[in-house]
Amino acid sequence: MAEDTAQAPIPNVDVPALNRLLDGRYHEVRDEVRQSMAAYASVLTDAETMTRTEFRERVKDVVVEIAGTGQTGYGFPQEYGGGADIGASVAAFETLGFGDLNVMVKVGVQFGLFGGAILQLGTERHHREYLPKVITGELLGCFAMTETGHGSNVQALGTVATYDPEAGEFVVTTSRPDASKDYIGNAAAHASLAVVFAQLEVAGEGHGVHAFVVPIRDASGAPLTGVRIEDDGLKMGLNGVDNGRIWFDHVRIPRENLLNRFADVTEDGTYTSDIESPGRRFFTMLGTLVQGRVCVGGAGLSAAKVALTIATRYALQRRQFEATDETQEELLLDYGMHQRRLFPLLARTYALSFAQEVLASQLHDVFSGTTTDETSRRLLESRAAGTKAVATWHATRTIQECREACGGAGYLAENRFAALKADTDVFTTFEGDNHVLLQLVAKGLLTDYASDFEDLDQLGMVRFVAGLAVETVLERTKVHQMLQQIRDVLPGAPGGDEQDPDAGLRDPDQHRAMFEFREEHLLGGVARRLKRGVDDGMNPGEVFSRVQDHVIAAARAHVERLVLDAFLDKIEAQPEGPTRDVLNLLCDLYALSAIEADRAWFMEHGRLTVQRSKAVTREVGELCRQVRPIARELVDAFGVPREMLRSDALIGDA
Ligand SMILES: Cc1cc2nc3c(=O)[nH]c(=O)nc-3n(C[C@H](O)[C@H](O)[C@H](O)COP(=O)(O)OP(=O)(O)OC[C@H]3O[C@@H](n4cnc5c(N)ncnc54)[C@H](O)[C@@H]3O)c2cc1C
Repeated sequence: MAEDTAQAPIPNVDVPALNRLLDGRYHEVRDEVRQSMAAYASVLTDAETMTRTEFRERVKDVVVEIAGTGQTGYGFPQEYGGGADIGASVAAFETLGFGDLNVMVKVGVQFGLFGGAILQLGTERHHREYLPKVITGELLGCFAMTETGHGSNVQALGTVATYDPEAGEFVVTTSRPDASKDYIGNAAAHASLAVVFAQLEVAGEGHGVHAFVVPIRDASGAPLTGVRIEDDGLKMGLNGVDNGRIWFDHVRIPRENLLNRFADVTEDGTYTSDIESPGRRFFTMLGTLVQGRVCVGGAGLSAAKVALTIATRYALQRRQFEATDETQEELLLDYGMHQRRLFPLLARTYALSFAQEVLASQLHDVFSGTTTDETSRRLLESRAAGTKAVATWHATRTIQECREACGGAGYLAENRFAALKADTDVFTTFEGDNHVLLQLVAKGLLTDYASDFEDLDQLGMVRFVAGLAVETVLERTKVHQMLQQIRDVLPGAPGGDEQDPDAGLRDPDQHRAMFEFREEHLLGGVARRLKRGVDDGMNPGEVFSRVQDHVIAAARAHVERLVLDAFLDKIEAQPEGPTRDVLNLLCDLYALSAIEADRAWFMEHGRLTVQRSKAVTREVGELCRQVRPIARELVDAFGVPREMLRSDALIGDA
């Protein structure tokens, strides 16, 4: 232990060890990407000095050059030139989040969305034909799902692909004015192929949304006959990515261009699929694309780490007002408020990083075939949706707080926050709008991820839940069983230790019990309300709409609990020593600051007395003071390359 300046001992931080822990299994891959990024550091300034057209070309060139290193191809099979390691591909992508986010998003579009759709939805003929060139960046493409009229509700897309048996071709058409593909990355300038999601019609019968490979540009870059492309124009951020709109006017493509892993159309026009239920087929197809969601959440965390590194290092140099010493002004980081603003976010960033690691590892296991059961797949999809939502909201909030923490300097583009704010803002929307994603999480919890319920639309789900006893919904959750054992130990709760409001404030079992109580109570509340509404004869859709705020709160509480579990499991796996002490400190801060933020709810529900609530707030302040002496080490452990921080005047090289 180092010299103690506060009441509690300060753990020594072994920065390389902590960095290694955060980097996890793929630390070598992450280091490789860090090195590449440093070599392309000039992209960060190019974003400010080049015209939009020039910058788009620059971003494209960098993406293609990085593809040459193999760092963007980890997720593809080796036989086509990939690295056959899904976990490595997520780690590489997350690390790109330290750098220019145009490059990162363009990588995501090309290799994750476009390449990923061909890999996951296509079969060998598509893999053979496209993947080798996709992986090297020789063939650029786009992922055209969203339409002007429909983003979240993919089942309602209006692009239609009709099979013409005489010609053995599909005819792809934008069937109505709001069915133009919109916001499509790579579409405005660079893609020559599109994976287009369209309603499949065979012999007058609709079979729902399927994906097709549709050429959209010729070798000169001009749109092909029947294809109209428009630039989406200036965006809030990510202007190095060419987002655009696409219209199809009876564009003919060969029958083989249907990505036919889950369904096919024979030459004579017979529709076939091993998955009978159209609902399940649709969700199975979309489920294979979950990696994008996992990646965006992780990239958001990387951007938050950049912001925290800059703000913390600035606060260790910047002085303002004589506060404790008449001869010298106070360092920003020595102000209690500054600590209160930055350190809970820092602790939460650690917590979310460990939760993200669990998620990425589950993704790896499911997609490498190590885990094959359906339930794991469903749990993965739910966890990906929830983690993405919580992590990207956290990124938005953290970047804003860090910008403000740097005062006016934070507003200058050279100090990175302008780009960080503008470029990460949309993370809360693309790869699934966060509120829509949390509804998916709640649906999974309410129906226990049972496969039968994939056929259910929202109304069916409400009717189903309303038909269950509330207890049945709760008994389905693991949280319910665990809670029974620890219900009584909660201070402030009836039967708990009301005398000493400080008792067990840093006890992880108590943190867990609080998180679990909240999760269970909110989930039970949703089930109860759905049931009551339907029993009262209300329209199920109306019932659901009225309880949506509870639905979102229940899902958030569930994700918060998963995050805490991941942090506690990580700590449990560490040997006794300084690194474990540091993690304990951060985990306490994460848990208590989350409880503090929701203290009104806990008090309303009899889980916090007024005294206990005040004790929590006191303890958060104390934890922040304990983090203060090791703050620099804690951000250094993120391992953001110096070149990616810029901010020379703010943080210097010290
Ligand atoms: C920069 C950028 C890049 C993109 N890249 C691509 C791409 O490459 N390919 C692609 O296919 N798409 C892409 N998208 C589209 C993106 O995925 C969609 O914008 C996203 O899915 C949300 O859809 P939407 O915009 O139609 O919003 P909507 O679905 O209309 O949502 C609008 C608001 O309504 C709320 N809402 C919606 N439904 C409900 C409900 N049931 N209950 C309560 N609230 C609800 C949402 O929470 C949201 O706040 C991109 C978008 C952007 C901005």
